[in-house]
Amino acid sequence: MRKLYYIDPYKMEFESQVMRVDQDERGYYVILKETAFYPTGGGQPHDTGTLNEIEVIDVEEVDGEVRHYTEEKLDSDTEYVQGSINQDRRIDHMQQHCGQHIISAVFDDQFNIPTTSFHLGKKTVTIDLNAEALDDDLLQQVEQQVNQIIRRNHPVETKWMSVEEAAEYPLRKPLAVNGEVRLVIIPNVDYNGCGGTHPSSTGEVMAVKFLGWTKNKKQVRLEFACGYRVLDMLGQKHRILTEMKQIVPKPEGELVEEVNELIRSSRKKDKKMADLEEQLLQYEARDIVSESQDNRVIQRIYEGRSIKMLQSLGKSIMEEAPHAYLILISEQKDQLQFVLAHGSDIDRNMNEVAKQVLPLIEGKGGGKPNFVQGGGKKNIHADVFADRVKNVL
Ligand SMILES: [Zn+2]
Repeated sequence: MRKLYYIDPYKMEFESQVMRVDQDERGYYVILKETAFYPTGGGQPHDTGTLNEIEVIDVEEVDGEVRHYTEEKLDSDTEYVQGSINQDRRIDHMQQHCGQHIISAVFDDQFNIPTTSFHLGKKTVTIDLNAEALDDDLLQQVEQQVNQIIRRNHPVETKWMSVEEAAEYPLRKPLAVNGEVRLVIIPNVDYNGCGGTHPSSTGEVMAVKFLGWTKNKKQVRLEFACGYRVLDMLGQKHRILTEMKQIVPKPEGELVEEVNELIRSSRKKDKKMADLEEQLLQYEARDIVSESQDNRVIQRIYEGRSIKMLQSLGKSIMEEAPHAYLILISEQKDQLQFVLAHGSDIDRNMNEVAKQVLPLIEGKGGGKPNFVQGGGKKNIHADVFADRVKNVL
């Protein structure tokens, strides 16, 4: 089978004879006499596109043949197909792949840091470098040199040759194959055994931007973007910053500090608000206690108060009413939540009390002997629930 992507990586339209239409566990596929579709390999994802208007969703090389997996089955009696490659995707892959070769070459030649793997992702690209760490200065130097190689617009050549012939070139890595090999050559920059698609000159990579690195096992993983991805990212980030400046009207250079300041002051306010709420609860607790005078049971029913509020209120009330039992209930949409407690003069395990009433609301709960909280379904009215608790006390 002729691999047109090796002859001309810019060929995006082609016609071919259909050899076979078949099916495997991945789905329907087509085998062609010649193809411009690049199959997944060497860190570069497969092409997408169409065969006679039918979407090609995956392309894989299996047992030496390139299988074009189609969204629907191609008619078995189709003799010829018109193939069309998704050009943006292919050009993007060429830019990223070639950019990676240049980056790896500079790291290796200038800083003695070899690349051990390459992943071309949907958003960004990564390489694993055999180093323990990278520093900003080094990254800046490499990025500069890489972009210089791009700007100088070196030719990128591909050559097929025997392994013996290839051994004459200063290859970056020993070749792992036998027979015919394909070298991707950027003269004086990089000599590499590679089966990927590359542009015809480094200028087409347009630009490389490093995006950060992380430790990965005993190596580092460097993230970067090349080509149109750099422009897309700049556009995206610029949009976000512009929107941000509408919300926080400060010059770009002061945004981080300003947002930090906003967060700090908002936290301070939250803290202050919580303190005030706590104080309010204490006043409320005092009111409740004074209204209840010497009642044996203090009872209140609320709507929509959180269990946390009931707890705070309950604690404050119990400090002021050592002689009393306390029943606090909050009615939620379809739930009841409660606090059951008693003051320090009473000796009674409220867990026992809760256990007897919890089945009424199919609820759960528990706590300390003098203070329990819980909740369940609103099967009965809150005041009925309160009466049942009182019956047990
Ligand atoms: Zn490559």
